[in-house]
Amino acid sequence: MTISKIFNFILDLIYPRRCPYCDGILPPGGELIHTRCLEKMKLLTPPYCMKCGTAIVGSEGKLCAGCREKRHGFIRGRSLYEYRSAAESIYRFKYGNRQEYARAYAEQINEYLGGFLRNLNADAIVPIPLHKKRYAKRGYNQAQLLSREISRLSGIPEIKDLLIRARNTAPMKILSAGERQKNLKNAFIVRENSVKLKTIILVDDIYTTGATMDEAARALHEAGIPEVYFVALAGGASL
Ligand SMILES: [Zn+2]
Ligand SMILES: [Zn+2]
Repeated sequence: MTISKIFNFILDLIYPRRCPYCDGILPPGGELIHTRCLEKMKLLTPPYCMKCGTAIVGSEGKLCAGCREKRHGFIRGRSLYEYRSAAESIYRFKYGNRQEYARAYAEQINEYLGGFLRNLNADAIVPIPLHKKRYAKRGYNQAQLLSREISRLSGIPEIKDLLIRARNTAPMKILSAGERQKNLKNAFIVRENSVKLKTIILVDDIYTTGATMDEAARALHEAGIPEVYFVALAGGASL
């Protein structure tokens, strides 16, 4: 055992880690998701939309219905889990202070989507920010926890505060698709960045209609960053 392994083992004894799927306590120094729970979080496997990565139903072709109707601001994106199978886990991650899930989630993202992410040759990965009021209330930004861990595992640098949430927008889940887009108008500001960035990967917990990614991409384009991709923990939540 290396020193860091021993250290983590002791840390796990003091602060036991919980499994993202069942929330049960994990044995110290071992796996980050129970083996029996791994398959319960369903991976978004083909066929998925070539643009937004959500599941394709029936004979939709290469693009989902949403992407055939609407032009997105991002080039392409992928999500790890099919939303419903991960919904309760993500709820605890966002609202139940289960920040520790980020490591397990990021390991899975790196395993299944690491190739996709590295092939983009992106300059940086950037989390979708929370408004400072919501951040103060929650104490953390779940998208930033993910991007930090993804960056650590993939080696792609993270710029955690490139985007700033300008307005405290209404929670998206209570809004229709049209309302979501309106709700997000000018929601993001791009912080001045001395490095000339060309390609960015946005990170968020859930991809639904793409309204958030589109608005963030629009702000990045205006700031002179032409190529925007995304990765989300789960995709395809019901509208
Ligand atoms: Zn479990
Ligand atoms: Zn799509």
